[in-house]
Amino acid sequence: MTATILDGKTIANQIRQEIKTEVSDFVAAASVVPCLAAILVGDDPASQVYVRNKEIACEKAGIKSELHRLPTETSTAELLGLLHALNSNDSIHGILVQLPLPMHIDERKILDAILAAKDVDAFSPENVGLMSQGRPRFLPCTPHGVMQLLHRCGIETASKEVVVVGRSDIVGKPLVSMLLQRSGPCGSSNANATVTCAHSNTRDLSSVTTRAEVLIVAIGKPNFVTAEMVKPAAVVIDVGINRLGNELVGDVDFQSVSQVASAITPVPGGIGPLTIAMLLRNTLEAAKQKMASCR
Ligand code: NAP
Repeated sequence: MTATILDGKTIANQIRQEIKTEVSDFVAAASVVPCLAAILVGDDPASQVYVRNKEIACEKAGIKSELHRLPTETSTAELLGLLHALNSNDSIHGILVQLPLPMHIDERKILDAILAAKDVDAFSPENVGLMSQGRPRFLPCTPHGVMQLLHRCGIETASKEVVVVGRSDIVGKPLVSMLLQRSGPCGSSNANATVTCAHSNTRDLSSVTTRAEVLIVAIGKPNFVTAEMVKPAAVVIDVGINRLGNELVGDVDFQSVSQVASAITPVPGGIGPLTIAMLLRNTLEAAKQKMASCR
């Protein structure tokens, strides 16, 4: 079998076009332009690229963005000061702090300081809690990107065995939570799954992954999942982004797995572009919620 390639880049472009139209309608109706404030501390090259890509995406969608670049030596207190100012600035609708932060900064304290109504990454305890209760304010960007890709490629998860490998707060856990809901962001066929979450302490990982009709991998280990770990005809979603020399590769060994899977996401060009599209969605949503709360 040679797997169908699930083209995240094309789907992300469609979504971005939809958002651009919605932003334009919103601006016409509300006379307010949605605005995202991004904070970048230090000079990590990958983070600089991610932040730049987000800025460009905002501009193309008609969303304002402002970047706050801070030196590596910035203290937790200084960063908290900036966050408080952004929290109370009515013209800012979304705030994101690019991770990772330098080691000396208390990351938990910083993320907790972002006002939940502006927390467009959906990392705050309040937003995580709302999502797990099935009444999300915002959906976390990468897991939401996975759900959108599945839906728009016609892949239903309802009643299926779905295995998520990885249990991070950013990807694995929220994906499990979304897949478990009776209804997902794109309806009941887009969630409602029987979900298993595997991690580094899982015994006999292959015996778990080979049960999956839909296998989603987010572990940060280049080419880790090989063909023997995949059920024939499974759908495989590779969230991983790893740099090997000059090349970007996923957590799934694309060459071997595409011979057994029915469908697979490439890296790059799979989930990555959808993550940015979902950030735009959340920024627009934050602006809409702010307007609604003022009425
Ligand atoms: P993370 O915080 O490092 O978490 C990795 C998870 O994988 C942990 O739960 C860990 O288990 C598990 N794991 C590690 N080695 C394993 C193994 N050998 N077998 C089974 N489970 C294992 O990483 P993350 O933030 O979730 O990111 C994961 C990957 O996705 C990275 O490559 C990252 O770059 C990528 N990513 C991509 C996007 C995107 O937009 N496409 C967005 C975010 C992240 P323990 O909990 O037991 O340690």
